[in-house]
Amino acid sequence: PNGKDIRAALIIASCDIPGARKLCGHISALASCHRCEKRANNRNFGGMADMSDWFIMKDPVEHRQKALEWRRCKSNAERERFVKENGVRWSEILRLPYFDPIRFVVVDPMHCLFLGIAKWITKRIWIDEGVLTEKDLQSIQKKMDEFKVPSDLGRIPGKIHCGEGFSNFTADQWRNFFLIYATVALWNHLPGKDRKILTYFVRVCTILVRRIVEINDMKEAHELLIKIIKLIEECYGEEKITPNLHLSLHLCECSYDYGPLYSFWCFSFERMNGLLGNSNLIVSIFRIILFHLAKINNKLFIRIFA
Ligand SMILES: [Zn+2]
Repeated sequence: PNGKDIRAALIIASCDIPGARKLCGHISALASCHRCEKRANNRNFGGMADMSDWFIMKDPVEHRQKALEWRRCKSNAERERFVKENGVRWSEILRLPYFDPIRFVVVDPMHCLFLGIAKWITKRIWIDEGVLTEKDLQSIQKKMDEFKVPSDLGRIPGKIHCGEGFSNFTADQWRNFFLIYATVALWNHLPGKDRKILTYFVRVCTILVRRIVEINDMKEAHELLIKIIKLIEECYGEEKITPNLHLSLHLCECSYDYGPLYSFWCFSFERMNGLLGNSNLIVSIFRIILFHLAKINNKLFIRIFA
């Protein structure tokens, strides 16, 4: 009758990058990495030659100190300047004394690998740079139509050659595309270096989607991700190295903390978004609940769901 005390601890923040940054007081992913000392250079994360200089874990104590300094800024202009210089702003979540704003903020594999890298390599590199032409896409589609996959895998829609190519693929479809179709369907259409990128990326995906992974496999995936980034940089320039490509270098250390990527990726959570999106009524109810929670429970909810 008097209710019950519940003790809970927040030990991981797994969401898309803009959400994670807002939640934990980090600057935009376009400006710098939230886990290591790498800063963007004209909005790209190229420059792998000096990796040992920047691939160093950020200090959570320093992050907290800077966040407190941000709170002492007197005006909006001063706060903006501070964020630009230091990459940190205050977040209510820092009131949890045990919360580590660097280590607890993982890179979500679903957004990073599939909606990020898989899509980027295929559309912004191979299609935009003319490696895959309209004719190639039609022949890739034809090849893929010949595949007979088990019904529980979910089919890839026949949209490879529509619009700008690979239209409206979901994260699930990108995952299935690279795990099942890509090697056979793309091989004859790619030149040597791109075949390497494809082979490495398919291997990375094969390792990282496993529910049980060995430390050595994670190390192999990490080394292959470094090779992929170096190859893209060499063939297409530093400007093609996106925040997601850089963040993939942190997947390995996230899995040392939290286990196989399967245990913390956002697939199941995001599937619920799909369900909610299918019903206008549920969405309206959800919004009303959020609105009231935000009113009652100060700005934190607004920040999380903004
Ligand atoms: Zn980093």
